[in-house]
This record gives sequence, structure tokens and C-alpha cells, in this order.
Amino acid sequence: MFVDTAKIHLKAGDGGDGAVSFHREKYVAAGGPDGGDGGRGGDIIFKADSNLSTLADFRYKRKYAAEPGERGGSGRCTGKSAPSLYISVPFGTLVRDADTGRIIADISDDKPVTVAKGGNGGWGNRHFATATRQVPRFAKKGNPGEELDVTLELKLLADVGLIGFPNVGKSTLISVVSEAKPKIANYHFTTLTPVLGVVRMGEGSSFVMADIPGLIEGAGEGVGLGHEFLRHVERCRLLLHVLDVSGSEGRDPIADFNAINRELSVFSGELEARPQIVVGNKCDLADEAEIKRISGYFTGKGYRFFPVTAAIAEGTKELISCVAEELSKLPPIKRYESEPKPVEDFTRQKKRGFSIRVCDGVYFVESCEWITDIMNTINPDDYESLQYFERVLRSSGIIAALEQAGIKQGDTVSVYDIEFEYVV
Ligand code: GDP
Ligand code: MG
Repeated sequence: MFVDTAKIHLKAGDGGDGAVSFHREKYVAAGGPDGGDGGRGGDIIFKADSNLSTLADFRYKRKYAAEPGERGGSGRCTGKSAPSLYISVPFGTLVRDADTGRIIADISDDKPVTVAKGGNGGWGNRHFATATRQVPRFAKKGNPGEELDVTLELKLLADVGLIGFPNVGKSTLISVVSEAKPKIANYHFTTLTPVLGVVRMGEGSSFVMADIPGLIEGAGEGVGLGHEFLRHVERCRLLLHVLDVSGSEGRDPIADFNAINRELSVFSGELEARPQIVVGNKCDLADEAEIKRISGYFTGKGYRFFPVTAAIAEGTKELISCVAEELSKLPPIKRYESEPKPVEDFTRQKKRGFSIRVCDGVYFVESCEWITDIMNTINPDDYESLQYFERVLRSSGIIAALEQAGIKQGDTVSVYDIEFEYVV
């Protein structure tokens, strides 16, 4: 079975926790805090591997987890960061967020793509010593690594796709114009997995042709094999529509052509509009008059038509030069852009509670466990990070509540282990 879709679970490594530790030395009474930071958790990175042609590996292994970062140590020792976990996929694999359908990456070149980021390590307690807090007995936990379900979908990277009813001679054609050696046999659906062949034109120019398994009527609605395979022609810049002009199977080649194009249009309007060249195969079995009639029909409709006998490579040279010429006028193979992550939904945080208690002129924000997760991610020394925190305080309604409680410029706000001055 050819596997071209899969759904897998990814869990990047959690960051290691920061350490709480104090310097200890003989004769030194009270050493300062020296807890090191946790290490970064491992990323999950996708990369293309030309040795792979299916997503079959993902049927058996569906969970992928990168290692967590090490905890910080004493003596300012930073924990070790975990190595990245690499996942190899065939060229042309589309990675989507399984929940939203968002395209995360199109693995169609050699560039590796990080799909799940490991968490940063937490800070050790040495970062939290201040003039008034010399013995910080806390450190930050590491941040969790990203966790998500992704779907993988293989969309072949080919310039030209062969389409046509089973048995019209698609596999034979690709075998005579490229080095690909697909199975050729006189029964339907011999091609069960798409076959890619490189067609060399001399002088270093070449293009990739794909033999797509038989399309059958009803394929566009998901009947039979067709639907599964149509996605493979989605990236093709040009389609070669192969017909059996001899009608050796008792069908009319023109009716075949229209039936398949209906399938393409049901699948997608984009595919319907893809340029096609019509290949009339098995001319050795057909009579002149019939070839003329069919040729006339297609040229009358504005198609390029090539009569060939694929079995003995007759007429294929002319066909291939025409294909190369057409390709030079067409845009490059479609690459899918990764779609941006939706902006974080602050409205969700609005529903999360908090309470405010005023004590000795200090405004304590309490009962908001949820905010500690966010606080773990911010760096109090970093301006942007603080701005982000301020946005969270604002969008969650905390600022408004503080104002209602009568806070004034210069008052102290205390949120768990962070204290800051209220500035309007
Ligand atoms: P596919 O299903 O479209 O891939 O068709 P195949 O390439 O497997 O060919 C189906 C049958 O048609 C095989 O028995 C081939 O040998 C035969 N065939 C292919 N091309 C020609 C041709 O040009 N002339 C003749 N007579 N038979 C052909
Ligand atoms: Mg075939």
C-alpha cells in the first residue's frame, strides 16, 4: 500500500528547571545564590530525504518526542541543552497543524524546518538576587516544549504529470522517455505508487515526469483509487493527457478525455485549468482515419496533439521537445507558503480570574495561577519581554482592576515573585 498521508504527534523537549543553590565554601559564612539555568529542550526539525518516497514509516510510529533540557546545577552550572530530533520525510511533504489545517511547512528543498520548538531553560536563583532580596529561594521552571499534532501529506514534486485511464500506456511512455522503470502490464492499476522519472534533454536541461496511478471515473468524488492520487498532480506545471487512440479497450478516447477532465474539475478548479498536452498513444493499432479524426478534434479545441507509439518510442521525441518548450514558458513548481500562526488569543485569558488585595500601599495581584506560566516565559531584564507582560496585564483586565482599586503612579504591584512600580 502506498502511504501518502499521516498524522503524528510531536512533543518538543521541555526546558530544564533553574536551580536554587547557594555558594558554599569553608570559612565563608553565607555565600550568594549560584543556582544555574536549565538547558534548552530539544527542537523537532523536519528535513527532506531523497531516499524516501512514501510516508509509510509514520504508520507505525506516530509519537515523536525530543529530550528535555537538563536542570541547572549549583556553582552557576547551566544544564545541558537537549539535541534536536530530526524527522526525515520525502521531498514534497506538506506539514499542517492537525487542529487548524494551517500549513506549517512545505518540505520541498534541502532546508530543514523547525516545526516544534523546545522550551527555554528556567533561570537559576542567582538571577533573582536584588539589593533587598539577597537570598532568593526560588528559581524559574523550564518552559514546556511545543506540543502539537501535525498531518503530513505528500505532494510529489514533478514538472509534468501523466494522466489518463488505466492501460492507455502511461507507464510505457515514462519508461521510454526517462530512466524510470515502472511496472508495465496489460491490466488496470498496475501503477499503485507514483513513479518519478527524470527526462534529460541534453545540455544539462531536464525535467521531472510523474506517472500517476490510474484515474478512474468518479475519482474526483473519492470513488476508487483516483482521489487519493489526484493530489500528486496538484504541483505539476503541465499535464500530459494520454489516450488510447486505437480504442483497444472498446472505449472512445474522446469520451475518456472528457471523463477525466470532469474528475479534475471536481477535485479542484486549479487542476482543471492546468495546461494539458494530449498524447494519442497506440497509433500502431489504430487506423489513419481514426487518428486524423481524434487529432482534428483536439487541435480544433486548441490543444497540442501528439500521435505516438510509446511501445517503440515513436513520436516521443517530438512530444518531449514540445513539453520542454511549454515548461520554459510556465511558472516554476508550486511551493506552499507557510501560513502564519494566529496571534495569541488574549480574550481567552480574560476569562481567567484574579483578585487584588491592597496591603500597606502594595497592590497584590493574586489567585491567578495562569499568569505564572506567562511569567516563566518573560525575562525581566528585557524590554520587549516586559512589554509583552504589560499587554497580558492589560488584556486580562488586571490593569483596569488596579486602577479601579485606586492605584497611583509609583505604587508597588506584586504579582507572585515579580514586583514592579506602577507607571502610567
Ligand atoms: P498504463 O496503465 O497507462 O500505465 O499502461 P501501460 O504502460 O502499463 O500499458 C498497458 C498495456 O498497453 C501494456 O500491455 C503495454 O505493453 C501496452 N502498450 C503501451 N503502449 C503501447 C503502444 O504504443 N502500442 C501497443 N500496441 N501497446 C502498447
Ligand atoms: Mg501504469
